[in-house]
Amino acid sequence: MSNATLRVALLIVSTTAARDPSTDASQAALSSVLEEEGDGRWELVDTKIVPDVATQIQQQLMLWTDVAAETFNLILTTGGTGFAVADNTPEAVSALIHKPAPGLVHGMLAASLNVTPFAMMSRPVAGVRNRSIIITLPGSPKGARENLQAVLKTLPHACLQAAGMDSRSLHVGGTKKLEAEAGIKSSGGHSHSHDHHRHDHGNNHPPSHSHGHGHSHGHSHGHGHLVRHTAPSTNPLSNDPSLGPSRRNRESPYPMLSVNNALSKIKDHTPLPEVVTLKVDRSLPGHVLAEDVQARENVPAFRASIVDGYAVVVPRDGNLRGVFPVVSVSHASPGEVEPLKEGEITRITTGAPLPPGATSVIMVEDTILKTMTDDGKEEKEVEILADNVQKGENIREVGSDIKTGTIILSKGEQISAVGGEIGLLAAVGVAEVKAYRKPVIGVLSTGDEIVQHDRPGDLRLGEVRDTNRITLMTAAKECGYEVVDLGITADKPSTLEETLRDALRRVDFIITTGGVSMGELDLLKPTIERSLGGTIHFGRVAMKPGKPTTFATVPVKDNAGERVTKVIFSLPGNPASAIVTFHLFVLPSLHQMSGISPAGLTRVPVTLVHDFVLDKTRPEYHRAIVSVGKDGNLLAASTGGQRSSKVGSLRGANCLLCMPSGKGPLKKGSKVDALLMGGIRSEL
Ligand code: AMP
Ligand code: MG
Repeated sequence: MSNATLRVALLIVSTTAARDPSTDASQAALSSVLEEEGDGRWELVDTKIVPDVATQIQQQLMLWTDVAAETFNLILTTGGTGFAVADNTPEAVSALIHKPAPGLVHGMLAASLNVTPFAMMSRPVAGVRNRSIIITLPGSPKGARENLQAVLKTLPHACLQAAGMDSRSLHVGGTKKLEAEAGIKSSGGHSHSHDHHRHDHGNNHPPSHSHGHGHSHGHSHGHGHLVRHTAPSTNPLSNDPSLGPSRRNRESPYPMLSVNNALSKIKDHTPLPEVVTLKVDRSLPGHVLAEDVQARENVPAFRASIVDGYAVVVPRDGNLRGVFPVVSVSHASPGEVEPLKEGEITRITTGAPLPPGATSVIMVEDTILKTMTDDGKEEKEVEILADNVQKGENIREVGSDIKTGTIILSKGEQISAVGGEIGLLAAVGVAEVKAYRKPVIGVLSTGDEIVQHDRPGDLRLGEVRDTNRITLMTAAKECGYEVVDLGITADKPSTLEETLRDALRRVDFIITTGGVSMGELDLLKPTIERSLGGTIHFGRVAMKPGKPTTFATVPVKDNAGERVTKVIFSLPGNPASAIVTFHLFVLPSLHQMSGISPAGLTRVPVTLVHDFVLDKTRPEYHRAIVSVGKDGNLLAASTGGQRSSKVGSLRGANCLLCMPSGKGPLKKGSKVDALLMGGIRSEL
C-alpha cells in the first residue's frame, strides 16, 4: 500500500490566470518538481484555476476533499499568500483545515528564510482536511517551487498517515528509516546554512534579490540532488564501521579520478588472463585464442569432384568427344574407388572422391546417355560432347582450400558467434585449442531495503525491489560470461564480509551494487579494505551518473593453494548508475581478463538530433539511441530523463553518449562520441 502513487491536485489562485490560463507558469514549475524530485511517487491528477475569491477557493478545495470518489493525498494551492488586498488564500484555506500542520509551514519558511529575509512576506498555511494534506504555496513559480522542494521529501509519509494508513507499520525503523526512505538526512545538530544561487520570489519579494554563495553548486534542501557545504579535505582510509556514524569520514578519502584515469587503473590492476585448453564446441564462441592454431589436416582431404558428372582420364589432345563405357560409380561417401583407365569413365557426384588415375570431371550437362543395362536401371554408355578438356577441370585438389600446417587463426583472435572461426576449426580437425579463460562473475545486491524483485505482494514503506542484480546478471550473460547469483545482503558488516568471503571462493570477479555512498551503512569500501585486505584502486570518479564507483582487487588463495587476484567492482545502488558503470568500467576489466582487445565498448562519432543539457561540472554518460540516418550518418537521440535512479533511462538505449561537462546545452547537430552497447538501428 505504501508504494502506491500519491494523488495530487493543484489549485491556481490567480485572477489573471482565471481569465487567461496561458499566463500561468506555476503548474509547469510544480509538476516538474513533483516529477523530477518526487521519486516517482506523485501524480498530478487535477488542476483548476480560480480567481482570488475565498468562496471559489473553498468550493474547489471541498470538491476535492469532501466530494471526490478517490482521495487526493496532497492539495497544493499557489498564489494569494502575500499582503496585497486581494491576497486571501491563507484565510480561505485555514477555515477548511481540520488539523493544522505548523511544522510544514515552518519547514517552508525556514528554507525560504535561508534564501532571503523577504520570506517573511509569505503567509503559508498547511494542514489536513479529511484525508488530504493542503499546502498553500506562493504565486511566483520560483517561490512555489522552492517551498514545495523544502517539504516534498517528507510528504509521502504524512500523506499516507493522513490517508489513514496504519501508523505502526509506517513507523517501523524510526526516524532514521523514514529519513532514509525519504532520501534525506537530518543535520545532526550542525548548522543548516545554505549557499544559494540567486533566488527570486516574484510577487512576494523584490524581484532581483541576490545572495552571496561560497561555491558554485549551491542548492536548497530536498531537491533530490547532492548538496555539499564544505570544502573537500583529505582523509586516509575508509570508515571504520564499528565507530558508528558520528565518527565516519565526512568527506570521501578517495581521490576523484577522471574517467580516463579510472580506466587506466582498471587496465593496470586487472589480473592477466589465464590460459586454458578448451574443446571446440558451442561453448567456445566469445573466447580469445591464446595460441596460433594450425590446420591439422588438408581441406579437402582427398581429390574431390566439384560437380555431378563423369570422371575421365584426359587424353593428350584433350579431345573427349565419343561414347565411353561407365565402369564404376563414386558417391560422396567413404570407401574405396576403383582406378580409372583412359577410355573409361566413372559416374561421380559432387564432393565424391575421384578414382585413382582420373584427371578431370566432365559435367553431366555435357553428356548424353547412349545405352542402359537390360533392366533399364543403370547407365551403360555415355556420350561425351567435350573437346579441348584440360587436366584438373572440376576437381578440388587435396589441400587446395587449406593445407596442413597453415595457421588458420592467430593468437588474440576472438572466436565469434557468427560462425566463421568455429567452422574453420571444425573443418581442419582441431578439437581443442588454448584460449583465455573467461572469469566467472558473481553479482550481489546490498541494502537492508532491497527485496527480491519478484516477491509477491505490495512493498512496505522503505522497501525497494532489487533491480540491479537481474539487470547486471542479464547484461553479463549477454556479454558471454558465466554468472553466479550471490543474492541480496543486508547492510551489516559481518554479513557482508561473510558473503564476500564465500563469493571469493566461488567466483573470479564480483560485482556488487549499493553501499558505496557516504552513509554510515555504506560498507563496501571498509569491508573490502579492512576485512578482506583488498586494495581500492579508485573509489570516486568524476562522472554522471556513477560517481562512487569503486574498483578493488583482493589477493586470495585459490582451491589449489595458489595466490590469485580477484576483482571486486562495487557499483552505485541507483539502477541507471549501476548499468552505466557496468558498461563503462566493468566490461573493459572483464574483456582484459578474457584477453579481448581492444577492451570495452566500441566508440563511434555521432550527430545529436536535438539539444542536450550538459552537467556543469561532470561529464555525463547519456543513455541514447543511435540510428543510421538517410545519408549514412549516425544520429543520436536521448532516451529521456537521465536521473541516476531512473530505471527507465536505459530502456531502448543502444549507446552511452560521452557528453562533456559545460554550461549551456550542446546544440542539435553537434558531434559527440557514442559508446555502443548494442546494434545500431535503422533511422527512427
Ligand atoms: P546506495 O548506493 O546503497 O546508497 O543506494 C542508492 C540508491 O539505490 C538507494 O535509493 C537504494 O535504495 C537504491 N538501490 C540500491 N540497490 C538497489 C537495487 N539492487 N535495486 C534497486 N535500487 C537499489
Ligand atoms: Mg544502500
